[in-house]
Amino acid sequence: MPHQIYLSRSGLNGESVAASRERFGPNTLPQPKKRGPLKVFVGQFKDIMTVILLAAVVLSVLLGETAESISILCIVLLNSVMGFVQEYRTERALERLRDMAAPSTRVIRDGEEKLAPGSGLVVGDLVPLRAGDRIPADGVLVECAELQSDESMLTGESVPVSKRAAGFDEELLRLGRALGGEGGIPPHPAANVRVHMGCLVTRGRGLMLTEGVGSRTEMGRVAGMLREIEEGPTPLQKQLSRMGRWIAAGCLIVCAVVAFTGFLRGEAPLDMLLTGISLAVAAVPEGLPAIVTISLALAVGRVYKRGAWIKKLHAVESLGCATVICSDKTGTLTENRMTVQRLESGDPLLACELAALCSSGQIRRTGNGFTVSGDPTETALLAEAARRGVWRDELIRRNVTEHEEPFDSTRKRMSVVVRTPAGRRLYLKGAWEIVLSLCGSWWDGGTVRPLTAADRERWRNICEQMTSEALRVVAVAFRPLSAGEPGSEQALIFAGAFGMLDPPRREAAPAVRRCRRAGIRPVMITGDHIGTARAIAARVGIFRPGDPAFTGAELDRMDDAAFAEAARSASVFARVTPAHKLRLVRALRKEGQVVAMTGDGVNDAPAIKEADVGVAMGRSGTDVAREAAGVVLRDDSFATLVTAVEEGRAIYANIRKFIRYLLSCNTGEVLTMFAGMLLGLPVVLLPVQILLVNLVTDGLPALALGLEPPEPSVMDRPPRDQKAGVFAGGLGGLILFRGALIGAAALGVFLLLLPQGLAAARTGAFAALVLAQLMHVFECKSETRSLFTVPLLNNKKLLLAVFSSAVIVFSAIYLPALQPVFETVPLTPGQLLTVLGLCITGPVIGSVRSGIAAMIRRRKRGTSQNSSGRLSPV
Ligand code: ADP
Ligand code: MG
Repeated sequence: MPHQIYLSRSGLNGESVAASRERFGPNTLPQPKKRGPLKVFVGQFKDIMTVILLAAVVLSVLLGETAESISILCIVLLNSVMGFVQEYRTERALERLRDMAAPSTRVIRDGEEKLAPGSGLVVGDLVPLRAGDRIPADGVLVECAELQSDESMLTGESVPVSKRAAGFDEELLRLGRALGGEGGIPPHPAANVRVHMGCLVTRGRGLMLTEGVGSRTEMGRVAGMLREIEEGPTPLQKQLSRMGRWIAAGCLIVCAVVAFTGFLRGEAPLDMLLTGISLAVAAVPEGLPAIVTISLALAVGRVYKRGAWIKKLHAVESLGCATVICSDKTGTLTENRMTVQRLESGDPLLACELAALCSSGQIRRTGNGFTVSGDPTETALLAEAARRGVWRDELIRRNVTEHEEPFDSTRKRMSVVVRTPAGRRLYLKGAWEIVLSLCGSWWDGGTVRPLTAADRERWRNICEQMTSEALRVVAVAFRPLSAGEPGSEQALIFAGAFGMLDPPRREAAPAVRRCRRAGIRPVMITGDHIGTARAIAARVGIFRPGDPAFTGAELDRMDDAAFAEAARSASVFARVTPAHKLRLVRALRKEGQVVAMTGDGVNDAPAIKEADVGVAMGRSGTDVAREAAGVVLRDDSFATLVTAVEEGRAIYANIRKFIRYLLSCNTGEVLTMFAGMLLGLPVVLLPVQILLVNLVTDGLPALALGLEPPEPSVMDRPPRDQKAGVFAGGLGGLILFRGALIGAAALGVFLLLLPQGLAAARTGAFAALVLAQLMHVFECKSETRSLFTVPLLNNKKLLLAVFSSAVIVFSAIYLPALQPVFETVPLTPGQLLTVLGLCITGPVIGSVRSGIAAMIRRRKRGTSQNSSGRLSPV
């Protein structure tokens, strides 16, 4: 016997949730089909070079060269397995990112408001909605305060629709009857009381009774409209694929020349064909884009563990370039745990009553205290009122709210029209100087007195005093209304001001210091009063004596030139609106700055979108802000953003490391073969040897290099120039230089051993090519340090990769079973010494070069230090 679904004002209980889920299913839409492992594996063979190679192998089998063909085939297969592992891991990593994207929603169950995954929602759930939420299911509003919903994704209509509430109890009854009977739930007959999954709440708040989940929603019917994380190529990936095409073209030409020259010199045409193709397979870094993607995706996972969720891969790249971080104050630099410290009022109880009735928060009494839910500003006020014996839950029973103008960060106030036992009244609370400007009189605890210039001055002093102590000040005011009189917000009676403390987060000040050391300018942007803002900014180190600080009103009076100057110099912007944020982002970007901008509200979305790195709050933020952002701070903390910047820099450095490694190795391979041909030598390496070199050097070591821990110095240097390509700073030259040394080592071994026989010379060149690359991988760990000063042992995966590659190479040389496969002969100790000796010349010459480069850098810095703006502390 299935359980009943009990509906009530306090939401479903556990049993009802289970019963409802059993009957109506989970709140998920059908997912697109995943690519299975088999498909990914088969996909490996679509690569054009592999196909050509396979064709050539088939050809040689037909011509009777079975032994070599089989070994080539095995290596091609192994190569595909490597490619498969990489690509499969990439897919899984991206999939995990998508899982993280699953939205969560507020829901009331057992009388308590909780956060639940959106997929856990069931029919009958009560869901509080507020501006900025993405509606998680279909339902009927049973409470509604000026709620508007953007339904454009369902209807195409871009103007938000105003909603109203259906009666709570009637609606519970109606849904209850529908749940009791068979059949579905008939849609509510009244207009504009229903809200739909996937639509946005653009304004106001409300309470939804869920009537449809999963595919039983309007959205489910318009199937296929799934929000997905953006995986489009990042600027780096685009640059690499462009470059990849050039390299491929270059390689193909060289390979053709190698094969053709051999052919002219009378080598067997088929052998030369195989040589050319194998060389092309080895030299074209076709795995590079995949490795870049997987490194980016793995970096996203690592950053996630450290508190930030990077939604768009390209944000990883821009993060590392950020030159300015514009941060919210409340919740990001502060704890967003507010407590009222002072209440200045001629009638504290009335002030509390106003704050408790004009509120979007909730308070519930428990055994020996109370619990609150809602915006921290609201809950601080409710808690203070409760401490003074004024309880919202009691008040709303005696006073009926007729209308509510919700708080928004542009108006900076909220108001309600309430029917009290003493008559209709307008209650308003908001930023103190705005409230004061709307007042014509004040309440001294018994009488209404006109607000003279002197009174105004006195209240202003009181409030300003509080802001200078880092308190956030919210003032309250009211006005009696006659029956039917509209509740316009003017000629109000000032009733008092609350001063709330929201302490800075402990980790904020150290993070600000790290930020400055890394050449990034921190800026505070807040809706709060300039006094409060400056006081908090000074405590965390963003505001320093002498820094300019501006208010939104001052910004409004500026022309573009003055505004640009303000954007360049100020460290605090107070009493700003989301529109100011947008103007700031634009001004900063125009200056060539790379801007990270945080935000939480609906109206912040444009500024977040416009910024190079849009950052949203995971806890306090709205869905709209989160969707616009590239980075979501799961703990809302500024310090986490700085950590994300650090990871962004580190991953870019790592990507440069393995690009450098892969390309110089491939250069070495091509040069060995090419130079051999030009010098008129016999073919240096056989196809199967080339392919094995490629297999053991390109795959695992390169991947492991992408997992390097950040160098400690990444946050000690100025931001990277976003416009500079991945080869900036002489990387291209370095690659060619080291590639040439690798090629020289292999060719040198070949020349020295040639008198002792061709097989020994080939084996030696083969060993030298691999070992030189395995040494070079350690050089790639750092761009400034040489093989002899870089920490060699701190990346276990790299050690493992290098070790296993070395084992494979020595097996191919010394295991009798493998010798015929790779056409090798065992090297004598003397020959091996020749190989090692020539291999080590690369790092030695390389470190001499880097020593000289460091000296030149130091010399240059000595002469240009004072004129260099980027290096000076900010
Ligand atoms: P921020 O989040 O940047 O600190 P807000 O835009 O949230 O700024 O708030 C701006 C001002 O509006 C605050 O200084 C406060 O005086 C007032 N305020 C904030 N929240 C509320 C609220 N829920 N009701 C009334 N006034 C509020
Ligand atoms: Mg706020």
